[in-house]
Formats: sequence, C-alpha cells, structure tokens
Amino acid sequence: MILFPNRIALFLLTTKTPPMIEHFFQCPHCFEEISMLVDPSVRRQEYIEDCEVCCNPIEIQVEMEEGEIMYFEANSIEQ
Ligand SMILES: [Zn+2]
Repeated sequence: MILFPNRIALFLLTTKTPPMIEHFFQCPHCFEEISMLVDPSVRRQEYIEDCEVCCNPIEIQVEMEEGEIMYFEANSIEQ
C-alpha cells in the first residue's frame, strides 16, 4: 500500500531540475532560424552544437541570470 501518493508526485515535480529554455537564433552558417535548448541552472556556459538545418558546428556562449538568458552568442567555427 502506498501512502500519500499525491504528496509523493508533488515532491517529484518540485525537485526535478528546472525546464530547459528554448532559444531561437540565426545560424551563422546557413542563416536559417534554429532553436537550441539552454539549461537555466548553469550560469555561464560555452559549448558546441551542430546546426539542425546545415549540420555545421556552432559555438554557443550563454549567460544566465535568475533563470533567464542575459547574453547569447552563436559563432561559426573555422574548420
Ligand atoms: Zn545552419
């Protein structure tokens, strides 16, 4: 028998990591508008993602403040 199933469900909901923020921007390679998911729990992040349209690598720099994107930059990478 499970006691307080609603309470347990609520606990699981409130302790999970904050939802990812979807950010739209223009690809520096193909100039298509694409979106990327940003983790709001990491204050300053730098990573490389492939464009979902042209598959070229894009260097992403993001700075978060209070769960919102304060700074976003997408640069093409010389290959
Ligand atoms: Zn692209």
